[in-house]
Amino acid sequence: MDFLNRLGGFAKNMGNKTNDLLEIGRLNSRIHAEEDAIDQHKFDLGDYTWDKFQTGVAMDERSTVICLAIREREQKIQAMREEIDAIKRDKQAGQKEQSAQAEGAAQLCPVCGGEIEAGCKFCGDCGTQLR
Ligand SMILES: [Zn+2]
Repeated sequence: MDFLNRLGGFAKNMGNKTNDLLEIGRLNSRIHAEEDAIDQHKFDLGDYTWDKFQTGVAMDERSTVICLAIREREQKIQAMREEIDAIKRDKQAGQKEQSAQAEGAAQLCPVCGGEIEAGCKFCGDCGTQLR
């Protein structure tokens, strides 16, 4: 009987330990949820400060320095976007020029100087074979 009592106490103890671990795990995940919420609040605080800066509200030095850094990066982004647009425009212009050349500039026969239709292997005027 003494043995059974002890066994029972042991089992009860194990059960408590399991419950403790579950409770700790539960509390830890609640702590993480609160920490995530704090991060979101800080993010909102940053957005709020940035909005104030943009509307010209005077701020303390530290906030101003951070906002100026954001503005500088935004200007960099803007410059890079303009570079991308310029590259795309150049490419399009190049393609248009190429197709205009392909359409417009007729090939001339090296022998008689006659105009040769696109894709022809022989000159239609003098019959010279073309490469
Ligand atoms: Zn010819």
